[in-house]
Amino acid sequence: MINIAELYTLLETPKKIVITTHQKPDGDAMGSSLALYNYLAPKGHFVRVVTPTDFPTYFNWMPNCDEVWNYEENPTLSNALVYEADIIFCLDFNDLSRIDPFNKAFEQTQAKIVLIDHHLYPKDFAHFILHDVKACSTCELIYRFLELLEPAYKCSKEVATCIYTGILTDTGSFSNGATNKKAFEITAQLLDAGLNIIEVQENLNQNGREEKLRFIGNALNRKMTIREDLGIGYIIVDRKDAYTYNLQNGDTEGLVNYPLSIEKVKVAILIKQEAKIIKLSFRSKGTISVEKICRENFEGGGHRNASGGKSFLSLPETINKIISIFEKEKIV
Ligand code: 5GP
Ligand code: MN
Repeated sequence: MINIAELYTLLETPKKIVITTHQKPDGDAMGSSLALYNYLAPKGHFVRVVTPTDFPTYFNWMPNCDEVWNYEENPTLSNALVYEADIIFCLDFNDLSRIDPFNKAFEQTQAKIVLIDHHLYPKDFAHFILHDVKACSTCELIYRFLELLEPAYKCSKEVATCIYTGILTDTGSFSNGATNKKAFEITAQLLDAGLNIIEVQENLNQNGREEKLRFIGNALNRKMTIREDLGIGYIIVDRKDAYTYNLQNGDTEGLVNYPLSIEKVKVAILIKQEAKIIKLSFRSKGTISVEKICRENFEGGGHRNASGGKSFLSLPETINKIISIFEKEKIV
């Protein structure tokens, strides 16, 4: 283990640094990675962000996003970066399996590994850990990390924009259970650093494609099942939807939240057919832990009220499995 003072000393001279985050990066994954990139790169370090898979095009406006490498497009060079790195930052994930197959390279590196994350039950693989499940987002932890590292540090507009993006998206625009006092306090500081909230809103939410909106309309109209008797609502997205609506990476983001707007729905599930597996997204209200359900049944995890997992069964079998879980759980 190393402490913050040792990390500070390491960072006093230019280092080779890799920043990575989870597969299918969301706003917090991209925000935390690029915030750290935009903090470290101007200090003279050689920094590369490597995402295990592509990131959605609606993050294409984020400061220095064109410096991000997609591991899938560049495995050999990405692995070489890890072998040669002095420091590797792992952001917004708690288990190296979340970056598979990029994780294999980690077996052959002397780099100091830094884990900054807010998911439940982190695995023990880092030399320095900043982990807090009460943090609203990994971006909150990046802000706190920079404060720890350099108490007098004043954010640049680029860093502020990235941190705000993660806070905004992980808190569901300051509305879900992850929202905490720090989210507001940090945002106030970010405004002083030049954050432009309207600019972020336009880039993030007013810059989309018609096909995506038509897809959401169809999903809510035809592909959503509400089982008030079980307290659940689920939406199915299959390969045909992907074809019909020309679905792009990230287009289903947020869809899982819609069934929760119904009073009697306590748990919402998005069931998405992918090339080899079925990807599941769970959201819940109150004290119902979908993290436990994902961990015990779907090789997944996350947060109490927002978790994910995967199923290797067929689509109908997956739906039956979900229904039988909630017949037993009796959440209503
Ligand atoms: P989402 O449903 O938006 O994909 O993910 C919700 C939360 O669960 C996120 O914090 C995400 O990192 C986590 N999560 C999603 N899928 C998985 C998974 O397969 N395994 C684990 N451990 N966490 C996941
Ligand atoms: Mn997060």
